[in-house]
Amino acid sequence: MGYHIDTGLIHEKFKVDCECPLCEIQKVVEEQFLYEFLNDAVMEDNTRIKVGQLGFCSKHFDMLFSRQNKLSVALQIGTRVDQLEKLLSDKKSVSSAIKQANALDKASKTCVLCDYVEDSMVKYYKTIAQMFEREREFYKTLIKSKGFCLHHYAELLRYSRYAGFLAKDYVGVIAGVEKRNLERVRQDLKKFCDKHDYRNALEPLGNAETALPRMREKLYGKKID
Ligand SMILES: [Zn+2]
Ligand SMILES: [Zn+2]
Repeated sequence: MGYHIDTGLIHEKFKVDCECPLCEIQKVVEEQFLYEFLNDAVMEDNTRIKVGQLGFCSKHFDMLFSRQNKLSVALQIGTRVDQLEKLLSDKKSVSSAIKQANALDKASKTCVLCDYVEDSMVKYYKTIAQMFEREREFYKTLIKSKGFCLHHYAELLRYSRYAGFLAKDYVGVIAGVEKRNLERVRQDLKKFCDKHDYRNALEPLGNAETALPRMREKLYGKKID
């Protein structure tokens, strides 16, 4: 299962009025993988082996379950449980019980969909840095954006060297955008709090009304449904 990077999607989502364009991109990437997992790709041997080895996190289980093809989900979960059952053999000593506890802990933290989505997102982080170096117009788009959620901002910083000889400028620009926009939502949040003081009861709330859900997006990323 491969993923082709779409620079058109980057341009499109950076122009959306939102708190994190990377969250918008990730939503598209995630939907594409969910679709593939509920359709043909799931019959590929390679994918089936990976589902058995890694399973799904609870978020992705719920996302798969909330869509149409329940049989496909059931078949894949069955494959995963077959693997997990191998971990549940009888334990005859405390040390082997602890070993099993560690193995179960590890097994509950893996997810094939998280891995696929993350692999694709890394390509986007690198491509965005490269676009900064190569496309003058993209610089303007970036500077006009409303910043990122903290996770995606950290990832952009992590892959900033892909902006090549402009890497230092790139870091400066995204840091400025992030700081300015976190402060913007912070001010809205302050306004929201101030509004609860009876002396400000008649003040217009404006953007502050949505300050909490927008700060949620900045701190934790876009809410997934
Ligand atoms: Zn984000
Ligand atoms: Zn997952």
